[in-house]
Amino acid sequence: MTGAEWSAERLAGLHDQLAASDADAIPVESAVTGETYAQLPAATETDVDDAVDRARTAAAEWRERPITDRVAVLDRVVDRVLAERESTTSLVQRETGKSRRDAVEEVFDVAVTAGYYADAAPAILADERRQGAIPGAVRADVHHDPVGVVGLIAPWNYPLTLVVSDALPALVAGNAVVCKPAEETTHVAAYARKLLVEAGVPPDLFQLVSGRGPEVGPPLIERVDYVAFTGSTAAGREVAALAGENLVPVSMELGGKNPLLVLDDADPETAAAGAVRSCFANAGQLCITTERLFVDEAVYEPFRDAFVDAVEDLQLGFDYDWHAEMGPLLSEAQFEKTREHVADARERGATVLTGGEPRPDLGPYFYEPTVLADVPTDATAYGQETFGPVVALYPVSDTDEAVARANDTDYGLHGAIWTGDEERGRAVARRVDTGTVSINEGYAVSWGSVDAPMGGRGDSGIGRRHGPEGLLRFTDAQAVATSGPVPLSPRGLPDRLWAAGLSTVARLLRKVPRWIR
Ligand code: NAD
Repeated sequence: MTGAEWSAERLAGLHDQLAASDADAIPVESAVTGETYAQLPAATETDVDDAVDRARTAAAEWRERPITDRVAVLDRVVDRVLAERESTTSLVQRETGKSRRDAVEEVFDVAVTAGYYADAAPAILADERRQGAIPGAVRADVHHDPVGVVGLIAPWNYPLTLVVSDALPALVAGNAVVCKPAEETTHVAAYARKLLVEAGVPPDLFQLVSGRGPEVGPPLIERVDYVAFTGSTAAGREVAALAGENLVPVSMELGGKNPLLVLDDADPETAAAGAVRSCFANAGQLCITTERLFVDEAVYEPFRDAFVDAVEDLQLGFDYDWHAEMGPLLSEAQFEKTREHVADARERGATVLTGGEPRPDLGPYFYEPTVLADVPTDATAYGQETFGPVVALYPVSDTDEAVARANDTDYGLHGAIWTGDEERGRAVARRVDTGTVSINEGYAVSWGSVDAPMGGRGDSGIGRRHGPEGLLRFTDAQAVATSGPVPLSPRGLPDRLWAAGLSTVARLLRKVPRWIR
């Protein structure tokens, strides 16, 4: 595998997938070498306007198609994406610098998510009968209508997954999607759109407007019917505020400062091996990777030693094969942030157990996987998301302290727990204030359980992706209630008798089991 198939010429050939008329607007830099390897066109406000108009027209036709048709398209997406696994994986690597192992996970994620919604969507979207005002006398039907045009704003760290896996439920629900991918990784989105269109998604139904967030984001947000945003908490606040002005609903998948708890009954070596992937997948540039490790004193020393050894064994580098385990940071900005967090922690008294240095011999944005101890509470890395290969290790006296410190943050995205007793792990998980918790695994069991909702609490977000929740967010419920033969307010009945009758009905209803009503 060389990645040579993604020449500058071939990348430029993907630009016809973009609704963007300002040619060569944005230089795209390699995470591996720092060199500019492509120029990206940007969408103007007129491009955004046209894209949303076309999407609205396409959505009107698409929503009328039977769900079986829409689901069949998702089935074909599974086949198409898996058939293109190798070249898609190489393109993800080309644009992000991530290891092949990290890149291929995105392809599987899209296939699994498409397959899940192909199976589950018909039942989730089906019309429902609910209890009417007077059971038996009033009928209530609920319909899950598509919202219309969904504006999807995506980050660079998982550029295939976070564009396609969020677009698919929106599409199967009967919507159109206009997506603004991250400017660093737009070619991945463009290639994905090509595959989706080949699988049968109508071209106007899924469109891409490329460009910088603060320029293309606002005109998009102002025109769509729903905003699904994934990115930093800071940008999320701006996006949510603008959507709020237009009363447009949002889902916000934001940052985290994720804790991993190693309980006193955990096997320290097993926990250490699992924690390595949990902390350093995609060089720590994964929203649900661990940045804080709370380890019970009973197992702290053996855990620390095994963990540091395993981190030192990580193969740092880049190749289009399966050797490199951890690649560079995406960009100078990510690299500088990582360097500053480590320098600041050091200055304030933290100990570097391993790593803590850039690796210019490999490329300008490579940084060693870094384990810190004794990080004081006033260090930036104590509370703020680094989004790089840096984790802080804290010994704790018991599980109560581990839980209290894990929850001592404004974020609430993901937690992980290592324990020898799964039952105990599930009980402790209920005390960890995050949207998802993985037990005896870093994050993949939570992310991969696509039938279960996933998302953040507090500053980590609003709403959920995955599961029925991740589909129904793209719908707008309509309830239709039909009066039966006995009217709610029979004509000619004096108000006093009407009130007394309703009181009797209300009392009787409490006696009838809910399943009969
Ligand atoms: P970012 O917020 O800088 O950018 C995300 C997207 O928003 C990009 O497409 C960007 O162009 C756009 N954008 C930026 N400012 C905007 C604005 N004012 N208006 C409209 N759009 C705007 O984030 P990033 O650096 O690309 O991604 C890293 C962050 O994303 C981290 O904080 C990470 O934790 C978070 N993230 C969260 C999840 C999750 O599911 N919770 C998943 C992946 C990444």
